Amino acid sequence: MLLYTANNGDYENLADRMQREPLRKTNVYVNLTNQCTCACTFCLRNTKEMRESNSLWLKREPSAQEVIAEFAKYDMKNFKEIIFCGFGEPTMRLDILIEIASYLKQRNKNISLRINTNGLCDLQAGKEIAPLFQGLIDTVSISLNASTAAEYLRLTRSKFGIQSFDAMLAFAVSCKKYVPHVVLTVVDCIGETEIIACQSLADKLGLTLRVRSFE
Ligand code: SF4
Repeated sequence: MLLYTANNGDYENLADRMQREPLRKTNVYVNLTNQCTCACTFCLRNTKEMRESNSLWLKREPSAQEVIAEFAKYDMKNFKEIIFCGFGEPTMRLDILIEIASYLKQRNKNISLRINTNGLCDLQAGKEIAPLFQGLIDTVSISLNASTAAEYLRLTRSKFGIQSFDAMLAFAVSCKKYVPHVVLTVVDCIGETEIIACQSLADKLGLTLRVRSFE
């Protein structure tokens, strides 16, 4: 599925959703890749069964033109927010993400665009990426996962090693200059003590922390 909607962990192809409830505004998720620089212990991508059966697993990565052609079928007024998310890390395909975001903003400058990311794209690209988001991306939501570098690495198994945590935080801070909303997220199952530590870290960096339920 390239474009889909989500509801409590259930995913539905956008075309099916629009046929079922054409008049209700919805959040749309854009699925660009299966690739990721992490191998999180909790990620669904890590089970062979999920890789083979999950409808979000892409057999082939789409081109920008293919995603744009899908969006062209719909009136932008049908969408509340468009989120680059999917089964992998969307910034692994940064060039097409930017191309698609530019197309969407050209069609409707008021449409809200969000990226859900592991926040490691500066490490992946070897440069500061946030300036590319200026005027295009309204929200960057970054998985904080943990309050320390060691725990972060234990959970994410990032290919960049122990430097990943600090690089992710630096990316979050850099996004503040270019993106109106920057949010760090953790899941509620990490425990109260860890949530308090993450909140304190977010406060220190001047960032919002969102605690979301683990699906
Ligand atoms: S960063 Fe996201 S996509 Fe990548 S392994 Fe972790 S949970 Fe999965």
